[in-house]
Amino acid sequence: MIQINEHYQKLKASYLFVDIAKSVRAHQEAHPEQEVIKLGIGDVTRPLPASALEALHTAIDEMASPRTFRGYGPEQGYDFLREAIAREDYQSRGVNISAADVFVSDGSKCDTGNIQELFSPEQRVAVPDPVYPVYVDTNVMAGRTGPFQGDRYQGLTYLSGTQENGFVPPPPEEAVDLIYLCFPNNPTGATATREQLAAYVDYARKHRALILFDAAYVSFIRDPDLPHSIFEIPGAETCAVEFRSFSKTAGFTGLRCAFTVIPPTVQAWTSTGSAVALRDLWSRRQTTKFNGASYPIQRAAEAVYTARGREEVRELTDYYLENARIIRQGLAQAGFRSFGGENAPYVWVEARRPSWDLFHLLLERAGVVTTPGAGFGAAGEGFIRISGFNEREQVERAMERIQAALA
Ligand SMILES: *Cc1c(COP(=O)(O)O)cnc(C)c1O
Repeated sequence: MIQINEHYQKLKASYLFVDIAKSVRAHQEAHPEQEVIKLGIGDVTRPLPASALEALHTAIDEMASPRTFRGYGPEQGYDFLREAIAREDYQSRGVNISAADVFVSDGSKCDTGNIQELFSPEQRVAVPDPVYPVYVDTNVMAGRTGPFQGDRYQGLTYLSGTQENGFVPPPPEEAVDLIYLCFPNNPTGATATREQLAAYVDYARKHRALILFDAAYVSFIRDPDLPHSIFEIPGAETCAVEFRSFSKTAGFTGLRCAFTVIPPTVQAWTSTGSAVALRDLWSRRQTTKFNGASYPIQRAAEAVYTARGREEVRELTDYYLENARIIRQGLAQAGFRSFGGENAPYVWVEARRPSWDLFHLLLERAGVVTTPGAGFGAAGEGFIRISGFNEREQVERAMERIQAALA
């Protein structure tokens, strides 16, 4: 008899985007003359940087000739890309990361989801709330939680981001083993200072815990005082793993390329107390279960690190940041307080009512679609997320409509 992994039965179905789609459809049927503007999107809208596109074309042409054709590449990624990443993202900022610490993949969703399988099912896990659901659901699937009760899973430690802590929760009071963090944050747009990250590194070293640091939005950081990497914090090279992606940085959501960084000094332990280098464990996992990101796409990712590529990424992220600024300003004029949107593409808006109520109000009165914060976790209740990932004229029109309807 085929028996399933029953931990899957604990997963709370996420109705968030289904419920949003249903409400939007109903609104469109009632108001067929009005175009709905979608500001709920967690995906980029602008085309690829020209440098990445050119590299992609060239690499595809290489596949057409037996002399330059490439089959399987290294599972950990091509050296040309791993070296560019180590040099440009880390060494250039004084961080001691080498190409051997970099594992190229086809996405941070997979990497942040897969990493937990290196650890024992008994590990105690802390996640941010509101949260990117991948961190939670993959640990539920692996049996590291109890059932879903009320609005949370039993057995998980939730680190609540609130207005009081500026959406940067302090480390947990109790002892945990794995801690997921995401800065700049999705969905709140919050960023963490050096001191705030240092508190997590201290905690991790004290409890022999591991920080799983998701830096998917790093290229939106403009404040020069903000750390770009967890490895800029002294001591993190012994207790942290970092995930980065070309998805939001360079518009690669459809191309698929990301990477995970694990310094050789990060250790984990067997039940009898022997130390194991986590980098070796991840390498074993990737070489067994993954056959590498595609060659043309790794060439496109490499191009992002050229002087021209970097300039194009800057323009691309500036575009979305300007959208976020327009959103913040538009909402302030309509009487709403909002957060984030300065070093991140997301604006986190205080709803002053249940988050679904503001969602419906903005949809019905302005024809604008947002994302209710409650969909990202219990601590997201009372907020909505508005995304800067859109075309400028859509954002401007949405703000005009919201002001006309609510001001
Ligand atoms: C978009 C996003 C990612 C990137 O995922 P990919 O699989 O690389 O596209 C990772 N983490 C967070 C929090 C995100 O929002």
